This record gives sequence, C-alpha cells and structure tokens, in this order.
Amino acid sequence: MLYDSQDNLASWTRTSVIINEILNMINFDFDMNNVVNKVLESIEQHTNCRGVGLSEVGFRGEKELKFLSPHLSQMELSELIPLISLPITLTNNRVTHTLDIYIVEGNNLPRRDSEFLSMFRDLLGEAINKEATKRDSLTGLFSRAYFDNQLQLEILDATKEGWNVGLVILDIDHFKNINDTYGHPVGDLVLQALAKVVLNTVGEQGVCARYGGEEIAIILPQTNSKSAIKLAEGIRQAIENEVIDTGEGQTVSLTASLGTAIYPQDSRDINSLIKNADKALYQAKEAGRNKVSTFSTELVEVPVPRQEEVVPTKEAPPTPVATALPLQGRFKIMPLVKCEKLSRPINPSGIFLEETTHTIYLVDSVACRIYSFNMNGELITRIGGKGEGRGSRMNHPTSITCDREGNIWVTDSGNHCVKKFDQVGNCLLCISDTLDEMENPLPSPRKGSFNLPYSLTFERDGNLLVVERINRRVQRFDPQGNFLAEINIPQLYPDYPLRPDPTDICVDGVGNYIILDAANNCLIKFDRNDKITARIGRFGTELGDFSGLSGIDADPSGMLTRDLMALCRSADKVTYKEGTVLVSVEMGDHSRIQFFDGNGEYIDMLDLSTIDPSSGPIRPRDVLVDGEGHIFLLCQEPPTLVYLLVLEYKSG
Ligand code: GH3
Ligand code: MG
Ligand code: MG
Repeated sequence: MLYDSQDNLASWTRTSVIINEILNMINFDFDMNNVVNKVLESIEQHTNCRGVGLSEVGFRGEKELKFLSPHLSQMELSELIPLISLPITLTNNRVTHTLDIYIVEGNNLPRRDSEFLSMFRDLLGEAINKEATKRDSLTGLFSRAYFDNQLQLEILDATKEGWNVGLVILDIDHFKNINDTYGHPVGDLVLQALAKVVLNTVGEQGVCARYGGEEIAIILPQTNSKSAIKLAEGIRQAIENEVIDTGEGQTVSLTASLGTAIYPQDSRDINSLIKNADKALYQAKEAGRNKVSTFSTELVEVPVPRQEEVVPTKEAPPTPVATALPLQGRFKIMPLVKCEKLSRPINPSGIFLEETTHTIYLVDSVACRIYSFNMNGELITRIGGKGEGRGSRMNHPTSITCDREGNIWVTDSGNHCVKKFDQVGNCLLCISDTLDEMENPLPSPRKGSFNLPYSLTFERDGNLLVVERINRRVQRFDPQGNFLAEINIPQLYPDYPLRPDPTDICVDGVGNYIILDAANNCLIKFDRNDKITARIGRFGTELGDFSGLSGIDADPSGMLTRDLMALCRSADKVTYKEGTVLVSVEMGDHSRIQFFDGNGEYIDMLDLSTIDPSSGPIRPRDVLVDGEGHIFLLCQEPPTLVYLLVLEYKSG
C-alpha cells in the first residue's frame, strides 16, 4: 500500500512538471502547434493512451483530425475509430474540438490516467481559446485586435530602422446585394472564399486581418508605395477572376476596391496611416469601384519637426565647442571581435558584457534569440526557438542585461513582458503584459505591466529599470520582479515638443540614469530620486545634438572619464564638469560617438567615418563601455556576421 502511494506520488510529480512546462508555453511563448504537439506527446508518454489526436468540430458537427501524436501518425487512419472522445468547449459554449484516444494499452485506463487526461484536455482548451482570439472565426484571417497590435509594432520598428510600412484596405463592392439575393449564409461563404483568395495572393508578404464586416486590411512590412500598389492590383485581379460556388447550383463573381497608404512617406503615425488608406479606398469607390487607389501625398502635411519646436530646454542650450578635438591617435582600435558566422541572417539590437566571465551577450530581435560569445567571438550558447530553454520563445526581444547571479534579462517587446532566463535559457520569471485575455490593450496602464517594453538595466543597488515605449515611462522593480515605482516621462516633462519615445536606458557610475528619447532625439538624465537633472541634445547634426541616435551608455568605472577629462585639461579647451562620462552613438548619415560630461554638456566627438575597420561603413546599433574604459560598438556585416568594434583611449 505504502509502495503504491509512493509510486503514485512520483507519477503525479512527473506529470505536474509537464503541466507546468505546457502552461509556460501557453503563457509566455505561445505557439499553437508547439503546445498541441507537446500535449499529445505527453499523453502518450505519461498515460496508457497510445494514438492520440486533436480533431476540429465543424459547424455541422463534422470532425476533422488536425493534430496527431507520434504513435498515431504511424497508423493507418482510415480504419481507426476513437475509443474515447473528450469534448473541448470554448468560452462561447460550443464544442469546437475533441481530444481523441485511439488505443489504450492493455485495455486498462487507471483512474490516475483519466484524471491526467482531463487536465491535458483543459490545457488544450486554454491553447485553443488563446489561438481563437488571434483569429477571426469566420474567415481565419487575423482578428482586428491582432491587427492593431501588429501594425503598432511594425510602425515602431519602421521608425527605428528607417523602413516603410504599407497598408492596404480592401472593401468588397456591393456586398449587400449578395446578402439580399442569396441570403446571409451564402454571404458568409463568399466572404470565406474571398479571404482565401487574399491570403493566397499576399502569401508571406504581409499580415491579413478582417478589419470590419467585409473589409480586409493587409499590413505590408518593409514595403514601398510601388510594391504595395502592385500587390493591391494583384489582389484586385485575383478577386475579379474568382468564381465562387455557392453550393446551391449557383456561382457568383465579385469585385473589390482597395486603398493603399505608406508610413512614413504619406502618413505620420498609425492613425493617419489607417485614415489615409481608408481615404484612398473611398477614392477607389468614388472612381467606380473594382479599382486600386493610393493616398496622394499632397493631401497631408509631412511631419518634419521644425527646429524651433524641438528646442529641448527653456534656458539656452550649452554652447558646444566649435570643433572636435583631433581624433587621430587618441583612440586605438582593438582587433575586432568578430562573432562567429551564424547560419541565418541576424539582426542584433542589444549588447551586454558580463565582465566576470568575459561573456558577450547579443539579442537578436528578428530571429528572437539570445547568443552568447566569448571574447574570441566563439559562440557559447543560444537561447530561444525550439528546444533551446524552457519557455524561451520570444517575440521581438530588444534589449539584454544580466543580474549579479548571472541570470539573463530581456525585454520581450512583442509579448509585452520582461523575462529572466537562467544560463541555459529556462525562463525563471516573466513580468507581465498589459493585454487582457482577448489580447486587447487594457484601458489604463497598470503598474508592473508593459506595453512595448524596450530596454532595461540594473541600478547599482540591484533594482531593475525598464523603459516602455507606448506608455512612455520607466518602471523600477526589485530583483524579484516586484513593482516599486513608476516614472511617467510626459508628466514630468509636459512641455515636450513631441511625445517622448524612450528606447534605451543606462545608469552611470554614481546612480543617475539616462533615457534615450528617440522621438525627440535627445537624452534625459534623472537622479536617484527620479528628478530630471539634464536634457541633452535635440534634433540636428551640430555637436551636442543628434541625428539617428541609436544607443547610449555611461562609463561605469570612471576610467574613460578620467582620461577624457585629462585630455580636456591638457588641451586647455574648457573646464568640464566632473562626473561620469556619457557616450552616445548615432547611426544615421553622421555616424559618430559623442561624449558628455557629468552635467550632460558636450565634451567631444569621434567621427566614425574617419576610421576604417575594412568592414564598410560603421553604423553602430548599440554601445557599451566596459569597466576598463573600452568602448564596444555593436556593428553588423549583413546578413550573418556581427562584429564589435572595440576602442580604447590611448593615454599619453
Ligand atoms: P460598397 O462597399 O461597394 O459601397 O457596397 P456594399 O454593399 O458592400 O456596402 P457596405 O460596404 O457598406 O456594406 C457591407 C455589407 O456587408 C453590410 C453587411 O450586411 C455585409 N456584411 C458585413 N459583415 C458580414 C458577414 O460577416 N456576413 C455577411 N453575410 N454579410 C456581412
Ligand atoms: Mg464595408
Ligand atoms: Mg462593401
């Protein structure tokens, strides 16, 4: 008896580990296929059930087997009838799926197994529900909520990287006639058929969502006006040529009108992009329907911020030194750390150097991975993606840092959370998001959650600071991830010319923290009490200003500070204020590093076009100053090679 209960306990423990793992997959890194496959496989491994499947139940009750467990995929399916079918009910009370068991080993299903089965069934229900909110149930296109979120992400990326985003809005012509003539059920069927035509035409080029009743919106990342119009025209023709069988001995043909608009070429933000594509659609309707129309740029003011609007400080900004100190000979370029060639294109957006182990961490926002390298550029670990750490899947991770225990923290901007991983990539903690269970943004930003967290850093006392773009704030957390404080930037700075867009943050050697505001191309410096003590720079290419500001860091040890100050004094230029030197990088046409003193006043500049690393132009995406005063610039040689340009100040 005792033996039996111990045995039971062991198997319960094993199963609860699996269940936790699946819950992590659902909550953190959701991918429907992965979750279902894991559940089916686990049922086979941990119960007497063999041959397990997940079927979808259609509107008329017909079943279609959609997922097969490893055993089931080796069987002859046509002869099989499930022994057990467990219904899975969604929130709308309709049974949409069944969990089917085809074989039970020894024809013996212990009670424990049936309890496990019902738990796995519940997990599948969670996953199916989550997937359903992403999609429109009639057409299978993405939902409006998913579209809104995705478009927002694309626009932020495009702003940062200088890309275009195309938007196409399509409305079926005279669709009311179809409903009036054939009835609503046929109308639905036609809608489904047209959604398929659109999906097939767009393919991998874009994200198709049901925008409204019979309106479809298509997001086209990195697409210019010409390509967007070409694709819209392709869709228009495909719809015109489609003959739809109504299933009642009749066929119908339809046309659609389409409008296109492009960010940032003719639209300044997400709202005007949608509005402009809509206007273009209206023009197409006006012009007689079955047409593609594009939003004409003459209709909008192009959002070029006027210089006088963006003067950041009320007092006159400090007058920068007219010319930079002579560069030649001041900085020595160390051998490049070329990080091993990777098998697929990489897009590193953040760097961190763990100085006790001399490990370089890079985060790749597109492949959604973390790579670590030693100082020789050899790959040590890879985190994220299939099988590389439990709960390690990310969606557009943008920034990376490590805590004192050597755990890795990233901003997972697409999942709107901050994650903590151990060294092999198991997710240990996830600070949560601002989306409700339907994936709609919550009305007011909650404390301790995020909407597009973008960068993070640890303070000297071990607390974590995270900047968040949509809510335009910084939040402070303790090392366990508990919320401590919120610093709302627009509230502190109501006179801001443009709404701030914080994309990077660093701390200096004495406890201040500095935020990069990409919208206003300036830096904002806060003291330990969260008071703003300086605002540095503005739009422009003057020294002390910024164009294409892409990263900041402060000198943590004072080595670089000391050397630069000594240089200033010996050059008898100006007396600069003591305090930690702040280093910024720009990757626009003026690719350069600028240095600022403890008061945030411009000291000096290093023009990156004057150094030749024999790797083409240097456009640093991020900058890092280590404890020995070296400056690491994160650069890339597309598509697969990343290198760090390491600069060392040559004293004497
Ligand atoms: P046009 O756009 O060319 O001006 O004419 P229209 O007849 O298509 O007009 P409008 O876009 O204003 O009307 C859309 C119609 O689509 C109204 C509504 O009955 C129908 N509709 C919207 N959603 C659905 C749906 O899910 N199923 C069906 N069957 N009809 C829908
Ligand atoms: Mg309509
Ligand atoms: Mg219509």
